[in-house]
Amino acid sequence: MEALMENPMTVNFDETENQRLIRDMVRDFGAKEIKPHMMDWDESQEFPVHVFKKMGALGLMGILVPEEYGGAGFGYLEYITAIAEVSRIDGSIGLSLAAHNSLCTNHLLLFGTAAQKQKYLPKLATGEWIGAWGLTEPNTGSDAGNMRTVAVKDGDYYVINGAKNFITHGKSGNVAVVIVRTGNVGDSHGMTAFAIEKGTPGFSAGKKENKLGMRASETAELIFTDCRVHKDQMLGKEGEGFIQAMKVLDGGRISIAALSLGIAMGAYDAARNYSKERHQFNQPISQFQGIAFKLADMATKIEAARLLTFRAGDLKNKGQDVNRESAMAKLYASEIAVEVANEGVQIFGGYGYTKDFPAEKYYRDAKLCTIGEGTSEIQKLVISRSILK
Ligand SMILES: Cc1cc2nc3c(=O)[nH]c(=O)nc-3n(C[C@H](O)[C@H](O)[C@H](O)COP(=O)(O)OP(=O)(O)OC[C@H]3O[C@@H](n4cnc5c(N)ncnc54)[C@H](O)[C@@H]3O)c2cc1C
Repeated sequence: MEALMENPMTVNFDETENQRLIRDMVRDFGAKEIKPHMMDWDESQEFPVHVFKKMGALGLMGILVPEEYGGAGFGYLEYITAIAEVSRIDGSIGLSLAAHNSLCTNHLLLFGTAAQKQKYLPKLATGEWIGAWGLTEPNTGSDAGNMRTVAVKDGDYYVINGAKNFITHGKSGNVAVVIVRTGNVGDSHGMTAFAIEKGTPGFSAGKKENKLGMRASETAELIFTDCRVHKDQMLGKEGEGFIQAMKVLDGGRISIAALSLGIAMGAYDAARNYSKERHQFNQPISQFQGIAFKLADMATKIEAARLLTFRAGDLKNKGQDVNRESAMAKLYASEIAVEVANEGVQIFGGYGYTKDFPAEKYYRDAKLCTIGEGTSEIQKLVISRSILK
């Protein structure tokens, strides 16, 4: 515990004015633009690009991007608030919003040159363009450093061959930040990041996944066949790609914690309301201690996840290293999201197993949170390395 105590807390739980405004705006937007259609998108696996354009107009596609690049210029507390509120309604829209903001856009923001930022950030921050980010490959997920997609230098160009798997916005993304091998296998300095635009010869989308949940968030393969990319498309220096990706994920995991938190809150809200309306044995089921205690456990876990998530966001805003805190927030929030969504289905009984009520969708969507941007096991690896060093 000593290492943890080295990081003392000054506590201020007050919501900022910006957080309140964002929360109210997202709730209103979600009720009008997402809720009425989300089960249709879920059923057909439609990725509703037009909704992301509208969110762009509201500043939600460039939450962390400075105003000089067309973004909202907010910090992590506002970002967490936005992702959680969207995900409270629909996790798949929350997942896509998180991947766009904290993976593709943030990688460009953190490591792009002034010219690259000028070229891409205004388009991404306004929702004119959708961003993708490719690290995972068919044979290397948790072990991403073992990737096999290669870029071979040829004059001012790099020729890329290989494939990336499970990429959010793999088909619809207008630009993808892709991390590829430029050095030896096993060398963490042997990988490099490039920004590659849709339509670049040799770069195409492959199979779109048919998923358990998060079905309105597009997940697809990226294929590179002799794809020539100019060296000006490189982010940072050759060999820095994997290190950059790990830094991007430290921030990204806060957004997956927020996504998990939102899904858990949505599942809890639905179950709590239902428990007060549903009567069995001549009383609302909420009057049975067996149900009331479930709700008490759900609410307590959500509060704990909220504290971890906002704590990680607060540290990130202060420019501190959040490697451990973001992994803890992501691990805990995602695991409790699955537990809360599971209990939500239980409280709805048979109706929870049908698509007439929202419980089953929260249950399906929640599971992704323990897998994407590093599984729970990988978060434990990150945390244990940090506390034992
Ligand atoms: C909907 C969705 C969207 C995604 N979006 C993106 C995206 O936009 N960009 C991107 O790059 N990737 C994306 N991913 C990929 C995601 O990050 C990976 O699926 C994830 O990192 C796990 O990798 P894997 O699927 O290869 O599982 P594996 O790495 O094969 O893991 C299989 C199992 O083994 C366990 N395991 C592996 N190594 C260890 C270890 N050292 N110790 C203990 N247990 C271990 C894992 O925890 C897991 O339980 C997405 C995935 C999904 C499902």
